[in-house]
Formats: sequence, structure tokens, C-alpha cells
Amino acid sequence: MNSAVVQTTNFMSAFFDVIVIGVGSMGSSTCYHLSNRGFKVLGLEQFDISHEFGAHAGQSRIIRRAYFENSDYVPLLTKAYENWKALETETATQVYFQTGLVYFGPAEHLLMKGVKQSASLYNIPLEHIDNESAAKRFPQFKIPGDFEILFEPEAGFITPENAIRLYAKQARKKGAEIHTREKVSEWRKEGDGVVVTTDKNIYRCNKLIITAGAWAGKIIPFLSEKIKVTRQFVAWIQPHSSASAPGMQQWDHFALGEFPCWLMTDNFTQGCYYGFPILPESEFGEPAGLKLAHHYPAMTTDPDHVNRLMMACDEEDLKYVLDKYLPGCFESLLSYKICLYANSPDEDFIVDLLPGHEDRVAIACGFSGHGFKFASMIGEILADLATRGKTDLPIEFLGLKRFLA
Ligand SMILES: Cc1cc2nc3c(=O)[nH]c(=O)nc-3n(C[C@H](O)[C@H](O)[C@H](O)COP(=O)(O)OP(=O)(O)OC[C@H]3O[C@@H](n4cnc5c(N)ncnc54)[C@H](O)[C@@H]3O)c2cc1C
Repeated sequence: MNSAVVQTTNFMSAFFDVIVIGVGSMGSSTCYHLSNRGFKVLGLEQFDISHEFGAHAGQSRIIRRAYFENSDYVPLLTKAYENWKALETETATQVYFQTGLVYFGPAEHLLMKGVKQSASLYNIPLEHIDNESAAKRFPQFKIPGDFEILFEPEAGFITPENAIRLYAKQARKKGAEIHTREKVSEWRKEGDGVVVTTDKNIYRCNKLIITAGAWAGKIIPFLSEKIKVTRQFVAWIQPHSSASAPGMQQWDHFALGEFPCWLMTDNFTQGCYYGFPILPESEFGEPAGLKLAHHYPAMTTDPDHVNRLMMACDEEDLKYVLDKYLPGCFESLLSYKICLYANSPDEDFIVDLLPGHEDRVAIACGFSGHGFKFASMIGEILADLATRGKTDLPIEFLGLKRFLA
């Protein structure tokens, strides 16, 4: 075949109903929902499906419904749970693990108040546990006597890399084209469509969806000043292999099935600390270790130039939570990862049609370190926005209007 024929073939196949820029957490689900509805979809991903340079790497992401951030998220979470279940049924693969989630912190702290408020507004099961019972039930922690302790039994975690790969695989099965290692350099409205240029080709589409995570500010000029990318440290530690001293917690006390997910706040640090039970070593390279991290917007970074080495501040932060709330548990550091948050100015997501583009461009970004649990339904919302110009799901509070005033 000569090159002229190849060119023509490329050009002929280069028109799509919808192009999705960024096939990570939100983009993979979007490709799935669109192709499920019969649309001709192209997903463009600069790295692989999945990868460790953005927001989704690291084995596990907490899912919970008693949403302290804002109870407006709860109806969206109900839908997210339904959609994760549907993915599991369709693929006969588990992505959601119900471990329960223990929250602890000062009762008057905004986080604890937010959990109770969402639980009571939406009748979400939430146990209040007294200190004595907590010491028996969760002996792994040292919980201060004046802390409140809550347990959300229907919470747990999602396995992100696995979920993203499943969505991309199912989307391809339903006809979506997904290109990896192809970076979008530019997009623009042209005539009654959109032209997307990558480092390999030029494509045209009727509608464009941008789910570029930490790179959103680079590809959506309107957001360049609004999205702040931060470098987040996640650690896997080896707990003691034997309880050789009173109060020391051995490895199997933290295993999946024994230990819940947890989230802790106090009045001395910003945000909250959280962690997971020990999972088996993953095919994505994470060790069988106790994973924990600090949820708050950490050091600002450029997504293309990230310091992925452990810094003294990362070590100090880890030491703080281990010494204070999990004393005697640390044996060694097994591994760590640097992931990226894309923070919106108010830490609420941004999900909307982009103004000035005749409803041709939908965006979802600014997930501010708490978005993964929603990925299963954000894809559905974006498919609605791109193909119907609206959605029936309650997302007004996530709109761009709040930045346009
Ligand atoms: C350490 C850490 C812990 C977290 N814990 C939780 C948790 O417990 N629970 C929870 O719900 N959420 C959690 N989150 C947040 C959640 O992971 C993110 O909100 C979510 O993954 C964001 O999804 P995204 O699709 O916006 O970004 P990503 O998954 O990073 O996807 C964006 C994709 O766009 C691609 N892309 C960007 N620009 C281009 C371009 N020009 N061309 C082609 N491709 C491009 C990127 O390569 C990337 O694959 C955590 C995040 C981090 C970092």
C-alpha cells in the first residue's frame, strides 16, 4: 500500500461523533458510556491505560456516601455505586470492596459534622462507637479519649487501575477506538464541529469531551489559572510481623477482611489522613503493604515536571500519623508513590459544558483528590452533556457558573 492510500484511509476514518481527550479515570468511563449508547467514539490518551503519572495510580481509592465535603454529592454517589455494580456484573470482575470505613476525630470538627449531616439527611447507615468498644474493635489505632468514632459499614474501596482497564476494554468491545501514547496538542472549533490535533494525526468530531486530569489547565485555556496541581505522597509500610511488645500490632491485624478503610482528622493538621487494609501485591507494582496518605492539597507542581522522589516533608508527615495514631505498627517503608491532585479553587469538581462553544465541548476536571469514587457516573453525565446537551443528574453545584460571576 502506498503512503497516499494510507493518508486517505486515515482521513476517511478520522471523523467521530465524540472525541474524549484523556482516557484515565473519567475518560475511560466516558468512552464506555458513549460507546454503550452506540456513538462513534475516539479516546486519546497520552500515556497507557492505566499509568502512574496522573491521578489514578496506587491500587485503591476510598468510596463512601456520608460525604463530609458537601451533602449535594450524595445523590451522585448513589448513582456511582449503582454504576460500579453494573460494571462488575457486566465484566464478572470485582472492583468494589466493602470493608467499612472508620472515621475518627474531634466531634466538633467540620469533617465529622459533615459525615453526620450527610448520613442523617440521606439515611445512610452510620454507627456511633464509644471509645471502649472502638479499642476492642479497632485495636490497631490509638484513638484519643475525646475523639468521636463513626463507622460507615457500606463504605470501602475501588481498585482504580483495574476499573479503568475494564471500562476501556468494554468500550473497545462496543466499538470505541482508544489510542494510547498519543498526546493532544491542540483543539479548536471549526465550522459545525471540532478539530483535534495530536502528535500523530488530526481528527474531527461533532462533540468534544475533555477529561485531562492534572493537564486540564494546559488544554483548556479558561482553566489555566484555576486548576492548581499538587504533588501527593502515598506510602506502603510493612507492619511488624509479630506482636513482640504490648500494644504492637502485627501484620495480619491489618489484612483485608480484618481491617477497615479509615479516615482521621485532628485539630493540628490540614485535611485528613486515611488508609486501607493490606491487599495482595498488585499486577501494577504495588506491594502487599499497609497503604496510608494525607488528603490535603500539598506542594504545587507542573504535571510534566514532578519530583517523584520522597522528600523530607513526606517522611515527616508519615511519621506524624504513624507515631500518633498507629504507634508501634511501623517496621519499614516498603514503597511510595507520588500522584497528582488537580484542585479546583473551592475543591468541588468542575463538570459542565464549556461556555462559548455552542454546547460542543464538555469538561470534567478539578476533582481535587476525591473524584475517583464518582468516575462510574461522571462518564454517564459527560455522555449526557455531549449527546443531549443536559443531564438529569443533579450537577448544578459543579457548574462553571460559580467562577463566572
Ligand atoms: C494520592 C491520591 C489519592 C486519592 N484517593 C482517592 C480516594 O481515596 N477516593 C477518591 O474518590 N478519589 C481519590 N483520589 C482522587 C482521584 O484519584 C482523582 O480525582 C481522579 O483519579 C481524577 O480523574 P481524572 O480522570 O480527572 O484524572 P486521570 O485519571 O489522571 O486522567 C486524566 C488523563 O488525561 C490524560 N491526558 C491529559 N492531557 C492529555 C493530552 N493532552 N492528550 C492525551 N491525554 C491526556 C492523562 O494522561 C490521564 O490519563 C486520589 C488521588 C490521589 C492523587
